[in-house]
Amino acid sequence: SMQYPEWIWHNGEIKRWAEATTHVMAHALHYGSSVFEGIRCYETANGPAIFRLTDHNKRLYASARIYDMPMPYDLATINAACREVIKKNNLTKAYLRPFAYRGLGGFGLSADTPVEMSVASWFMGPYLGEGALEAGIDACVSSWQRFAPNTIPAGAKAGGNYLSGQLIAREARRLGFGEGIALASTGLLSEGAGENLFLVFDGALHTTPVSAALLNGITRNTLITLARDAGIEVVERDMPREYLYLCDELFMCGTAAEITPIRSVDGRQVGAGHAGPVTRRIQELFFGLFDGRTPDKHGWLEMLD
Ligand code: PMP
Repeated sequence: SMQYPEWIWHNGEIKRWAEATTHVMAHALHYGSSVFEGIRCYETANGPAIFRLTDHNKRLYASARIYDMPMPYDLATINAACREVIKKNNLTKAYLRPFAYRGLGGFGLSADTPVEMSVASWFMGPYLGEGALEAGIDACVSSWQRFAPNTIPAGAKAGGNYLSGQLIAREARRLGFGEGIALASTGLLSEGAGENLFLVFDGALHTTPVSAALLNGITRNTLITLARDAGIEVVERDMPREYLYLCDELFMCGTAAEITPIRSVDGRQVGAGHAGPVTRRIQELFFGLFDGRTPDKHGWLEMLD
């Protein structure tokens, strides 16, 4: 169904798609022992720009550190590999997937199985469907909770975490919703299957704190910063489920989902049932980084060339 670009960076080399393979006995396939990133490259008036490339790859190395995975290449090499695959595939608007995984060479859980690395890139449109950025999606609260702190660290972007994400996302889609929202082990709001959550009350943004066992999203951090720069109040706090039914506006954010409005939760209309003024303003500020309406004050656009 999807046409992937031909070239992938794998263990220091550019390889053809068909050749960038691993073994069925790779440690990561069995035990989830991988860490990864998702990064977008946008077209700008000055050429393609990789959005917060270094911040994403710093998080990749932080995720690896949490799992004590020695990385065979340094951050500068992975940054360069990200640029290389986009260019080699002649992409401009693209999604990048840097990846590190335990491969072959020790099958025990505590084995020092060597870590291998790859970077793939492909074109990705709106993650939650055509038109989702404008029309918004219908979401539901998942029957699956997010993993508790002191079980699996939510702050690491590790392959195994996405078992939780798959349960949440697949349940939501099976029930006819666009995405699922999970509660934390505390019973309070956590995040979406692959997105952080923002609620709007009286013109202010309210977002769940890292204490809700969520991924410290780079889009989340971007929106908090842009909102504060624009004089919009931002509150990071724990919130109960029913706030989803009471807020004026609601949206999800992530590298893949960008800023996706949520027009209903559990079949209950949110606010006016379409993206509200604060959500629109946040979308403008974010997408304005790429069309020049928002100055890149924080050096987030890392040009391809
Ligand atoms: N939470 C989870 C579980 C995610 O997978 C993602 C996507 N990486 C996010 C939040 C959003 O993070 P970011 O903005 O860094 O893409």
